[in-house]
Amino acid sequence: MPRKEFCSGACMGTRPLTDYGGLPERDGAGQPVDDLIQPFQLESGESGEAKLSGRLTQLGEAVDDVMRRHKYPEPVAELLGEALALSVILAGALKFDGIFTLQVQGDGPVSLLLADVQTKNDTERYLIRGYANYTEDALASHDPAESLLGSGYFALTVDQGPHTDRYQGMVEITGKTLAECAQHYFRQSQQMDAAISLSAGRLGPDGPWRAGGVMVQRIADDPNRQLPSDDDDDTWRRVMMLMATGTMAELLDPALGAKRYLFRLFHEEGVRATDPRSVAHRCRCSSDRVFNVLVQLPREDLRDLAVDGNLEVTCEFCSESYHFTPEAVEARAAVGDPVISSPESADR
Ligand SMILES: [Zn+2]
Repeated sequence: MPRKEFCSGACMGTRPLTDYGGLPERDGAGQPVDDLIQPFQLESGESGEAKLSGRLTQLGEAVDDVMRRHKYPEPVAELLGEALALSVILAGALKFDGIFTLQVQGDGPVSLLLADVQTKNDTERYLIRGYANYTEDALASHDPAESLLGSGYFALTVDQGPHTDRYQGMVEITGKTLAECAQHYFRQSQQMDAAISLSAGRLGPDGPWRAGGVMVQRIADDPNRQLPSDDDDDTWRRVMMLMATGTMAELLDPALGAKRYLFRLFHEEGVRATDPRSVAHRCRCSSDRVFNVLVQLPREDLRDLAVDGNLEVTCEFCSESYHFTPEAVEARAAVGDPVISSPESADR
């Protein structure tokens, strides 16, 4: 995966990105200005009707907070940043509360990328978390021309909670980037054209992490029409060309902002933005939940896990450590009831 180079700021007429000192959380109208997902539509074509829809995300503190909790090598952190941005723009299509999970598992140096988004439409807030597994030796000897993910699968899961069916779609990893892989997923699994750009990187050598993503997809206006018209195809090609003019640095630039980025790319296509929603990093782990998992384990497994009479469990998502004694867990197991009788409902 090529390393992204960051604009010094001079090329965009903005202040240097390395001087970035943070943004206010909300603008004068009370809308988020960073850590957001921005839905939009393009009224392309002669009819003036919206034919394409999309979502853009710009993540600052939300993704930097994830990276601060891990010590990932930069290529791994870049890939996880892209996975977090991708999960946000995909979860943005959900019109209900639930948990959206992106999982990419392969035989390359990065063997697992996991990112999930809890959508809360009542509070108009998305909560993200994620982690990566990698092998240091394989990473050190990795050919930069090859994908870090190798061969494996790319899976999306939507979970709306108890008493609902989970949806899962899965395809083989295809392409060298996460964006190519996601585009392949939509063609293969959804029979839908989607164009996706992703970027992640630091602001300056040791600066905070940022991630960004933009996705445009065709609006399915007529289910009886299998093939798009020539006019639709022309529109699609034009929008793809415009999308390619957006640079990775612009997508990450906190000073540019989501709406200005969209206007810069698509102002000739009648871009129309709706209200953005805010995104924050939040893990759903807790002492009670970890305890409940331990209570379900066989007694001999508990004894094997204990070190010096202490059970330590570290959350892979946020690196928070929880400590228990085997005796406390066994005592609870003997009583029978878990601490939280309905842990799933606490997820919502
Ligand atoms: Zn956690």
